[in-house]
Amino acid sequence: MTARIDHAVVSGTFSLDGETHQVDNNLWVVGDYSQCVVIDAPHDVDAILKIVGDRMVKAILCTHAHDDHVRVAPALRDVVHAPILLHPDDRPLWELTHTDELWDVDLSDGQEIRIAGTTLVALHPPGHAPGAVCFHAPELGCVFTGDTLFQGGPGATGRSFSDADLIKNSIRDRLLSLPDDTVVHTGHGDDTTIGAEAATL
Ligand SMILES: [Zn+2]
Repeated sequence: MTARIDHAVVSGTFSLDGETHQVDNNLWVVGDYSQCVVIDAPHDVDAILKIVGDRMVKAILCTHAHDDHVRVAPALRDVVHAPILLHPDDRPLWELTHTDELWDVDLSDGQEIRIAGTTLVALHPPGHAPGAVCFHAPELGCVFTGDTLFQGGPGATGRSFSDADLIKNSIRDRLLSLPDDTVVHTGHGDDTTIGAEAATL
């Protein structure tokens, strides 16, 4: 297995419920020297292409459809000719950002995405967003949690389409069952581990 993880921080804005905030998003790219998948499409196509390099992008995987995670997904698709994957329960959020184009493939819980000789398993823990998805990479010992789990606890649930009770149950059922030493690569901010977050939840 030659899969590796590349990372960048991309800055822009997040808007919902009539408010706009400045945000720094983590961009995660999983692949090898020739092909990769991009996890989320934050803010800036050129910044994403810089991390991708000359590799073939096999898929654009969306952890959820908040605009800071999907705003440039269609523009990136146009350049790299890869499908956008999103859980269909996030359609109401997607349509707040993209009114005239959709994603390509629905994500579902347990779905496996093969890339560079390794596997990402889609986990569906709703709460931060109705269609929130995390991508567990068992062979890489990590999980990409989007905004569902951060260093310090669950993602925000104060805005529309979020559910505070649901996210706690989702994290317990879908994420805390992963091995304690699983590295958590988040949508914003620093890494953590499942064990560290389990201890404080
Ligand atoms: Zn979010």
